[in-house]
Amino acid sequence: MKEFIQDFRMVCKSCGKDIDCSRRYVISQLVHPFEVEGVMDGWYFEATCPSCGTVHEFDIPVSYCDEKNGYMVFSCADCDRLYKAFLRDYTDNQNVNERFMFTYPDLVAFRLVKNKEQLVEKMKINYADLDDRVIEAIKWEISQITNDLFEGPITLWFETYNDDEILLETRIPYESDLEIRGATCHIPMDFYDGLKACMDREIDAPLRYEIDQDFAQWFFDQVKPDEKLRLQKLGKHAFDAARMNR
Ligand SMILES: [Zn+2]
Repeated sequence: MKEFIQDFRMVCKSCGKDIDCSRRYVISQLVHPFEVEGVMDGWYFEATCPSCGTVHEFDIPVSYCDEKNGYMVFSCADCDRLYKAFLRDYTDNQNVNERFMFTYPDLVAFRLVKNKEQLVEKMKINYADLDDRVIEAIKWEISQITNDLFEGPITLWFETYNDDEILLETRIPYESDLEIRGATCHIPMDFYDGLKACMDREIDAPLRYEIDQDFAQWFFDQVKPDEKLRLQKLGKHAFDAARMNR
């Protein structure tokens, strides 16, 4: 198998010396569990200066595949162009097997992401065996509810889950721009289940690869008015029940 390694050089912002780095740009759940863990923990996107020891963060496109669950996340900085290129290849049947040299007969979900934050979130959702389309819908609904409560839009992202709750991390803007607080929002699993059921019923596997807040908005536009109202009620209920821990 080709190694798919990218070598690059950074300049240390503290001492000006070169830092040479080497990272895979495709990691596999089966073949590279160490790197997969590194991405989810964050250290895969860090480099330590050999001269002065300063740790620097960086962002490079790293793609991920989970062969067992047929889930693949393709990272790129220019989604539109690559999306079209991929779509062309996919429909021409020169599919990911060839492109990434993995045996990949059971591709269930293919995702495009634009940065490491999106990649890490997708990987954590996949690891938790949850549906990222539903998570995006939850984030959308909660941000609609909270729009009136805070000074600006809040940022939400999936962190983890337990038996009856999904834990979203948030950044909440306060009066001053300088003051942005974090909180953990506990979403009851009922809301996830309700949305999932609706999604399975309402949309038949659309060919969409960018599953983000635009997707969530699109999804709620598809939903019939009475169903939408029901989901909004569920969302409100979920939000009232949600505990925001600071
Ligand atoms: Zn240095």
